Amino acid sequence: MEIVKKGNVQFLVSEKLKGVKHGFSLRTGGVSAGDFDSLNVGLRRGDNPFSAIKNIEICTDALEMAKESLTLTYQLHTKNVRFLEKEDIGKGLIREWGEGVDGVVTDMAGVPIMTYSADCVPILLYDGVRKMIGAVHGGWRGTKENIASNAIKVMCEHGCEKENIVALIGPAIGMCCYEVSGDVGEAFEKDYPECVKKMPHEKYMVDLKKITYCQLKTAGVKDCNIENSLVCTACENDKFFSHRAQKGRSGLLGGFIQID
Ligand SMILES: [Zn+2]
Repeated sequence: MEIVKKGNVQFLVSEKLKGVKHGFSLRTGGVSAGDFDSLNVGLRRGDNPFSAIKNIEICTDALEMAKESLTLTYQLHTKNVRFLEKEDIGKGLIREWGEGVDGVVTDMAGVPIMTYSADCVPILLYDGVRKMIGAVHGGWRGTKENIASNAIKVMCEHGCEKENIVALIGPAIGMCCYEVSGDVGEAFEKDYPECVKKMPHEKYMVDLKKITYCQLKTAGVKDCNIENSLVCTACENDKFFSHRAQKGRSGLLGGFIQID
């Protein structure tokens, strides 16, 4: 993935999705101040919601997306992934989901979808044959519940072939900075020993992005169709929001995708 500038804002984009409108936003070029400086897209983080909505609009405009149809997840650390129906358009932003929806999938052209995060793992999915996209959020709970494979399952239930799916694992906290308590570490150690490092003081360092990568591979996504961002949001807090590095007071980054 590489950083590209569009207007006043920057996005991480992938060659694997060349020709598809997509990007993970960085933190500069928006209108928010203080901890949310400046491109916060989080509506429930304590920032002025009008600023957050303006920032979302800045992103969708820069990506030339149909902002009036933008549909968001409603992230409550579930493994729920929804295939969008017409009546779902606009949910997460102008209408409520009513329950946790940590991933959304759609085949509707002109309907941009978005996930949001600051250390958690954002995933963008694309099947260029079936013309379907997905936007998914995986924190440690969702990752433990394997939301990534659930997203692949939902796409395949609606006509995708897993070998046609391209997956981008976006900017998230790296193993270098993601220390968790013993019970969380142990929960991953059993299934993903190569993604977990036990520390001397009963804590663990966990690589959520690599776990997501393993889960996507196990779900049938081809190795050559997965791109894992090298960014650690905490190490690169000057460019990306980080919940950990900013001690819980940060804005959120957006992962956007749309088919035309
Ligand atoms: Zn780091």
